[in-house]
Amino acid sequence: MSRRRRIYEGKAKVLFEGPEPGILVQYFKDDATAFNNQKKGVITGKGVLNNRISEYLMTRLTEAGIPTHFLRRLNMREQLVREVEIIPLEVVVRNVAAGSLATRFGLTEGTPLPRSIVEFYYKNDELSDPMVSEEHITAFGWATTQEIDEILNLALRINDFLSGLFLGVGLRLVDFKVEFGRLWEGEEMRIVLADEISPDSCRLWDIKTNEKLDKDRFRRDLGNVEEAYQEVARRLGILPEGGPGDLKGPKTMQ
Ligand code: UDP
Repeated sequence: MSRRRRIYEGKAKVLFEGPEPGILVQYFKDDATAFNNQKKGVITGKGVLNNRISEYLMTRLTEAGIPTHFLRRLNMREQLVREVEIIPLEVVVRNVAAGSLATRFGLTEGTPLPRSIVEFYYKNDELSDPMVSEEHITAFGWATTQEIDEILNLALRINDFLSGLFLGVGLRLVDFKVEFGRLWEGEEMRIVLADEISPDSCRLWDIKTNEKLDKDRFRRDLGNVEEAYQEVARRLGILPEGGPGDLKGPKTMQ
């Protein structure tokens, strides 16, 4: 880790200079934070699991035609990604009322939404990631109208694909957060999915029992946090009984 130049350190990940220009190494830590850094902790093994889970989901999304920054996993905690210009927005897609949406509108957690809802938050820790509208995004120059349209389109396609994928392994994708970046290829610019997709950034509930298998176990002190992340990996076929060594396809639930 120390050999490489550190480009950026976030709450759960570190970005290092990669083997060539335009490529970075994304390192997954075990650190966990919630409520805008007010709650801090360590979930042993989380970095290893999120590296695997994000690799798996990004690979499936690429196969489904969604452009991403992901290149390949390097080892237990690191993956190679393309360097992108991160758009400073947290894009949240919701299928079922939970978390801040349930609180804001007085909805019972678990109420299905009439249709999927996309929300934008300005990525800024000092301001606690305030919710913003398209007007704010264009007025402050964070993204253009065309880029917002592209982001909305990608976010909904990601939601459709991942909802089906998780349903196939007995999990309900309640909501999730994604980030996008601008990838420059000469004069051409493309918007690609960046960051990670893992139980840190998704709400995943067991389809039958509604058991929470995501970061809410940490946020709400529900216990068995690491076990929940392991269970998601196991269902996706990433952590089969044989151990973390061998990769298999997902185990489909009947
Ligand atoms: N989320 C995230 N990072 C954040 C805020 C939210 O990954 O900084 C994810 C969260 O895990 C959930 C979804 O975005 O899957 C919606 O979160 P919500 O707005 O309900 O906020 P929360 O209740 O987590 O504070």
